[in-house]
Amino acid sequence: MNDPYVSCPYDAVHRVPRSRLQQHLVKCQWRNPELLPCPYNATHRFTKEELIVHVKDCPSKPAVAPEDRPQKTVASLTTPYLYMHKTYKTNDDEDWDN
Ligand SMILES: [Zn+2]
Ligand SMILES: [Zn+2]
Repeated sequence: MNDPYVSCPYDAVHRVPRSRLQQHLVKCQWRNPELLPCPYNATHRFTKEELIVHVKDCPSKPAVAPEDRPQKTVASLTTPYLYMHKTYKTNDDEDWDN
């Protein structure tokens, strides 16, 4: 089983199996409350100033920023629905009037 050791972002002296890093960080963060988790990867921890720089170039960052995604999803789902609903209703009204 390939489980490489990685350095703890709070203290490089801490060597933790990658699969255990999340649990280790939960314990370690109480001693380093000034470090904040990256919004894209909870195992990335930085000071507030470092995090602002990091999130612009995070390797775990998705192609589309999370704050952009809900707006695009709402637009793509709502627009066709309203268009189809309107078309259906118009045809239905004409049928009944005739
Ligand atoms: Zn640690
Ligand atoms: Zn990150």
